[in-house]
Amino acid sequence: MLKIGIVGIGGRMGHAVWDCCQGMDGVKVVCGIDRSSDGLPIGWNAEVAPEPSLLKEVPDLFVDFSRPDCSMKVVEYAAARNCSIVLGTTGFTPEQREQIKAASRSIPIVMAANFSVGVNLLLNLIHKSAGVLSDVDLEIVEAHHRYKVDAPSGTALAMGEAAASARHVALRDVMVAGRNGDTGARQYGTIGFSSIRGGDIVGEHTAMFCGDGERLELKHIATSRQTFASGAMRAAKWLEKRKPGLYGINDVLGLD
Ligand code: NAD
Repeated sequence: MLKIGIVGIGGRMGHAVWDCCQGMDGVKVVCGIDRSSDGLPIGWNAEVAPEPSLLKEVPDLFVDFSRPDCSMKVVEYAAARNCSIVLGTTGFTPEQREQIKAASRSIPIVMAANFSVGVNLLLNLIHKSAGVLSDVDLEIVEAHHRYKVDAPSGTALAMGEAAASARHVALRDVMVAGRNGDTGARQYGTIGFSSIRGGDIVGEHTAMFCGDGERLELKHIATSRQTFASGAMRAAKWLEKRKPGLYGINDVLGLD
């Protein structure tokens, strides 16, 4: 039986992961971590999350959809106790990414900005298209609900990375986000990002390859968070017998 701890259990994704675990063979949720235990299915007040002493039962694996500051505490805690992690939180700084990488030398971690199978196929298609359409303008447009706090979304950045690697450039050198005012003409070779926030949009991502006389659009629309939750739980089961290391969703799906 795989013992699971859900981090951010009071949030939108935490709820979806909890629902996904109900009735799932070989899986038991033994703890939930959030700021307050009020109204949570299983929970404790983890004002400073996760306070090790508050965990009655140490899980084998954490599924984390929270915020980077919280996730970093989970990474530290898990590395000290040999727990695995499925890391779905987005918005990490490069330094935090380095710390996660360092922790993965002692524990297995699957990290993905998006756990949907469709999005990960989209990343592969973008990689292929950006190589073939190497001199075509690429714009990435993403839309999310009004509560999302980071922009561009982690998935949009992953789309940019997929295209940049196919073009043999670093995304940070070609990225243009949130144009406003007197921007001048579009610079050749850049990758543009636009973020829309509103209502209850679960997540929409479009890669627009805009050429002269034609445009190719690759679009993914998530209509339910269950797609991310079931992808994360698929990763959790896959991770069960892995060696320490930092894995991506492509490893889980066998897409590479
Ligand atoms: P949310 O705000 O609904 O939930 C986050 C939860 O984390 C909240 O309940 C909050 O109280 C808790 N939390 C935050 N900081 C905490 C701390 N220091 N201690 C304890 N609890 C803390 O957000 P959400 O929509 O569920 O998204 C959570 C994260 O997952 C975001 O980073 C989002 O971008 C990401 N996300 C990833 C995927 C994916 O497939 N990888 C899909 C959807 C969302």
